[in-house]
Amino acid sequence: MKYVYGPVVSRRLGKSLGISTVPYKICSLDCVYCQLKKTMDKTTQRKKYVDEDEILEEVRTFFRNKPQELAIDYITFSGSGEPTLHESIGPLIKKVKAIAHLPVAVITNSTTLMDPEVRKGLLFADLVVPSLDAVTQPVFEKIDRPVQGIKIKDIIVALKKFRKAFRGRFWLEVMLVRGINDSAAYLKRIKKVADSLKPDRIQINSPVRPPAEKWVRPVSAHTLKEAKKIFGDFCDIV
Ligand code: SF4
Repeated sequence: MKYVYGPVVSRRLGKSLGISTVPYKICSLDCVYCQLKKTMDKTTQRKKYVDEDEILEEVRTFFRNKPQELAIDYITFSGSGEPTLHESIGPLIKKVKAIAHLPVAVITNSTTLMDPEVRKGLLFADLVVPSLDAVTQPVFEKIDRPVQGIKIKDIIVALKKFRKAFRGRFWLEVMLVRGINDSAAYLKRIKKVADSLKPDRIQINSPVRPPAEKWVRPVSAHTLKEAKKIFGDFCDIV
């Protein structure tokens, strides 16, 4: 299969069947910690990167042949780039749900949420996991290396708009990289913005797989403990 992969088992999503909606590796960011390595096509352009019917046919085939004992918790749009760059993300979520009758999760880097069409499309999901690694432009540029012109303040406004309209589960993901966004003072700034978004959960992560840039280091166990204290009860270290 080209677009459907797994199921993969993770602590946060259980057993999840992945769907990739863009070819390797198209993304609006080029995060220094990305385990998929360097972004080949850094863009904010939304289009039909992949034929929608081919994706849906793969989903149908998977469920036609699925062993009965294989219990899947989520179907997850993620994969080899930013899934919401596919212009049909909303219809795709809706159609996949109709085929599989399972909860759908979308893992997104948040940059496309400024587009009302994306916000509208993601309302069909059961769980949305947007990233928020930075709340200031210099740190955003250092850690996530966005397409020129993307402003973190606009992303935060868009996240607020989406959160207000979304009735599903909303888990914020924060990736901590040593020496970039891991000071107690900066974590408190992220926490302040996170609070304004009222997430159901906050998931704190640090790179464990080989990152795009060799110099990237995970944060220490002590920092993770401090982060947990700052972010409080709704925070998971994943
Ligand atoms: S947003 Fe995700 S896929 Fe894109 S560069 Fe960052 S980690 Fe990699």
